[in-house]
Amino acid sequence: MSSKIDLKKLKHGGFLVQSDPSFFTIRTRIPAGQITSKQMASLAEISEKYGHGAIHLTTRQGFQIPWVNFKSLNDIADELGDIGLPPGSCGPRVRNVMSCVGFECQNALVDTYKIAETIDEKYFGMELPGKIKIAVTGCPNSCAKPQLNDIGIMGAVKPRVILEKCDGCALCEKICKEDAIGIVDKKVIVDYEKCIYCGACIQICPKDAKVADISGYTIFVGVNVGRHPRFADKLTEFVDESIVFKIIDRSMNLFKDEAKPLERFGAMIDRIGLDEFKKAVFTEEIDSKEFEDKEPQETLKWAIEQFHPRIRLASSFGPEDIVLIHMARKIQPEIEIFFLDTSYHFKETIELKDRLKNEWNLNLLELSSEMSIEAQNEKYGEKLYESDPNQCCNIRKVEPLE
Ligand code: SF4
Ligand code: SF4
Ligand code: SF4
Repeated sequence: MSSKIDLKKLKHGGFLVQSDPSFFTIRTRIPAGQITSKQMASLAEISEKYGHGAIHLTTRQGFQIPWVNFKSLNDIADELGDIGLPPGSCGPRVRNVMSCVGFECQNALVDTYKIAETIDEKYFGMELPGKIKIAVTGCPNSCAKPQLNDIGIMGAVKPRVILEKCDGCALCEKICKEDAIGIVDKKVIVDYEKCIYCGACIQICPKDAKVADISGYTIFVGVNVGRHPRFADKLTEFVDESIVFKIIDRSMNLFKDEAKPLERFGAMIDRIGLDEFKKAVFTEEIDSKEFEDKEPQETLKWAIEQFHPRIRLASSFGPEDIVLIHMARKIQPEIEIFFLDTSYHFKETIELKDRLKNEWNLNLLELSSEMSIEAQNEKYGEKLYESDPNQCCNIRKVEPLE
């Protein structure tokens, strides 16, 4: 009878043959590590019935029942399915999707269960050249270890200070474990080189002076532990949920097309190069002719969905710019608007910019030259834009952008 058993086929479903081939360990599928107490009780009964009453906790939030006789495999698979814990996945496939406790934790920035369960529904058990392990964690404390998975997803938020509201109480300085906050003249300064985007300073601020400048998901790729450990590459940060799924989709497709049999995801990234990998997962094949007949809103929508938050709308606050800002903000209210202040704008333009910034609560990035017009006049003479327009442009436009 044992000769009829296809071990490879069994392994797909989470049946692992033990050193004594009459016995198997049955691994269960538990998306996001979520299991009810009723399921726990039933699992205990199934373990008593088919195994030796032992249950092993896996490192990927699953349960395994060892010592199941090979003759009982069909029956135990049916019973596990009946209690909503069907056999899991092994071999070159997408494995049990891990998650931290998300909004059950006061630090969570994203709904980890929702993301992990959606990933499980879409990808669990998918046949691939190698195994893929995915974990979702709610904040940079990284309890679900996203940096130790083939694809790791982490919630993050970048704080911004509204200086007018800050009274310098220093609560945020005390809570920041990264020493990323300083108080100068009773006002907060954030050192973004040190900030890890945990959001603790936003939560604690009693004056609402700290707000989320931008929030979303950080994605790590390419880790594997085991025989030849490889560390994670940070692929991107502050992307929204739709981009997370696009990146996973494209990563899976690329892995299917490019990887050698049993090659690990990280090894494939090393072989093709991280830059090529990024191009493949970020760049959608697009023919610009496709947009020739489109409404501007459709073109903006495509660009924002594709690239937000790595996209900015440059604006000099002329009439057509205002229309574009209005359209873009209807698609993504948080889109960053970028204004290059040459110090030569009309007073009315600056007034309009400031008015819209306040009334529309624009996410506005303003850049200007470090050299005032007075200092420029003193050094180069009046009306440099006439005597040497290139130099004037260099000072007022090129250098601020650098
Ligand atoms: S990663 Fe963050 S949100 Fe998740 S359990 Fe840990 S501290 Fe809480
Ligand atoms: S987000 Fe976290 S790391 Fe960054 S400044 Fe605030 S408390 Fe510090
Ligand atoms: S906690 Fe808020 S009010 Fe206090 S120093 Fe920080 S930003 Fe300012």
